[in-house]
Amino acid sequence: MPTIGVLALQGDVREHVRMLQEAGASATAVRRPAELDAVDGLVIPGGESTTMWKLAETFDMLQPLRMRIKEGMPAYGSCAGMIMLADRIEDGAAGQQTIGGIDMVVRRNAFGRQIDSFESDLDFAGDRVHAVFIRAPWVESIGGDVEVLGRCEPGDRIVAVRQGPLLATSFHPELTGDTRVHRYFVDMLREL
Ligand code: GLN
Repeated sequence: MPTIGVLALQGDVREHVRMLQEAGASATAVRRPAELDAVDGLVIPGGESTTMWKLAETFDMLQPLRMRIKEGMPAYGSCAGMIMLADRIEDGAAGQQTIGGIDMVVRRNAFGRQIDSFESDLDFAGDRVHAVFIRAPWVESIGGDVEVLGRCEPGDRIVAVRQGPLLATSFHPELTGDTRVHRYFVDMLREL
């Protein structure tokens, strides 16, 4: 059984821990470099990417996170977590940094004010899932090694991607009762 950490600087940590456990993994909160060393994979939750970035710097986690991702640790980012895994961002705060790893440009708060939050059914890696979007980003563009796993209206925007051991969704599967996205990530870890 893989041990998956949930980055617990900020955001909806408990929900991800519960979903990972339901998906058959052992899950634990990760706040410090030593805790990061102890996990096989990492979930970066939704929340607020600017706050997460600042806290990652304060807790001396940004470099260790970049290092583990570079070494090939599997990671899954939802919403703010997707922003954290993007190599480049649009509409970030001044100086906003990410962990990076996925060769993509992600636009923060992309869906705009009128649909700040919405829910939609969409195809994720061949499965129909119910997706919750909250001030969500979308993927503006991707590099050649990035696989599109899901798109959403309006605009047929890219909202789920995978690049090797890295997975990201604009939406929050941890807020639904549906564990399929977490199962997909747990299966990824088992395969790698
Ligand atoms: N808008 C948030 C950000 O920029 C993400 C929102 C979310 O994670 N629900 O980080």
